[in-house]
Amino acid sequence: MLVQQLAIVGSTGSIGQQTLEVVSRFPERFRVCVLVASSNIDLMEKQIRQFSPQLAVLTEPSAAAILEQRLDGLSTMVLGGQEGLLEAVTHPDVNTVMMAISGMVGLVPTLAAIKASKKIALANKETLVAGGDVIMAAARANGVQILPVDSEHSAIWQCLHSSTSEVEKLILTASGGPFRGWTKEELERVTPAMALRHPKWNMGPKITVDSATLMNKGLEVIEAHWLFNMPYERIEVVVHPQSIVHSAVLFQDGAMLAQLGAPDMRVPIQYALSWPDRWPSPVDRPDLAQLGQLTFEKPDLGVFPCLALAYHAGRMGGTMPLVLNTANEEAVKLFLAGQVPFTAIPRLVEMAMERYGRETAEDEISIEEILLVERETREWLQRDGSALLA
Ligand code: NDP
Ligand code: MG
Repeated sequence: MLVQQLAIVGSTGSIGQQTLEVVSRFPERFRVCVLVASSNIDLMEKQIRQFSPQLAVLTEPSAAAILEQRLDGLSTMVLGGQEGLLEAVTHPDVNTVMMAISGMVGLVPTLAAIKASKKIALANKETLVAGGDVIMAAARANGVQILPVDSEHSAIWQCLHSSTSEVEKLILTASGGPFRGWTKEELERVTPAMALRHPKWNMGPKITVDSATLMNKGLEVIEAHWLFNMPYERIEVVVHPQSIVHSAVLFQDGAMLAQLGAPDMRVPIQYALSWPDRWPSPVDRPDLAQLGQLTFEKPDLGVFPCLALAYHAGRMGGTMPLVLNTANEEAVKLFLAGQVPFTAIPRLVEMAMERYGRETAEDEISIEEILLVERETREWLQRDGSALLA
């Protein structure tokens, strides 16, 4: 049996911890070689003592120093900083990288892992939104597979038995988030605590806020465009509050295949690691009779403009999705810090896109250009973000 030698990047997060849970159920199939997080020393120490990786990285250098002291006597090597992160994803013993960092900081390490010919299980959607072109081109050039972990994309992947040439449409389902059915006025008084309570999924803070604004679905539309090479007019979003249908594919003969299951990320995580096989799993089974009804409705783009903004950015192409993503990351930070209201998130994203709109989309964008536009957009929002709304 082929043992997968794993690097788990973002091991202390929601996806990272669930990945380790899946891995620990199949000790004969996996070896955890590398763990990476940012600053969570306690949980990283615990994970190291359980999985004995060769290398552990905390990108926050002071945290890495403390961790190293605590591990005195263990064989795990500890590194810090961005260099540590790059060593982690290119480690010679690793053949599969679970990319579960949050935000487009995942872009550079994902590219490095692809260039080092590692198989990529990709949870980190912001990487594809910001640099889809660069990532997919590098994957093709290096013969590297990118396996989706995001539940909707995993669902589509599970429904696609052959090439996408027979596909008429991809249908991404959205739970609608905690504020489904609310009016614009009601959204004005949403606090961070309210936005951090998701009705169906238990996830990290950034993606939970994205789910509440529907930006998460917008990012996923762009993610699907790159993963499945599908034009935007053939990607549709439908709100499905029960989160049982994880997405569907409409074929050219009119048949539609959907993937159903309990809302539990351990299923898509495991499938990205077990593919093309399926392995046993203890997750809840969907009980159709007990569920009784599954409902579907159109998303309300007037109340949740982020989804429309993402379609727009995707269609414009070039660096526009990157501007959308960067502005969203900064706007979410400002909102969580209590500096701007919830409804400022789409407004700031739109302003960033308008400000940048003069630039023409390039056919081939380099990673240097991506990082330049990112920094410029980020600095602009950090400097002027709250003032822009006055
Ligand atoms: P979390 O916030 O729960 O976890 C983020 C992880 O990344 C933590 O381990 C964190 O370390 C680490 N991290 C953050 N920044 C850095 C950095 N600069 N360098 C190294 N490590 C870093 O996020 P989620 O697990 O919820 O999400 C991860 C990704 O997966 C996101 O892109 C999200 O959109 C996607 N995703 C998540 C789903 C979910 O159910 N959670 C579903 C589908 C997609 P530390 O703990 O030390 O801060
Ligand atoms: Mg998703």
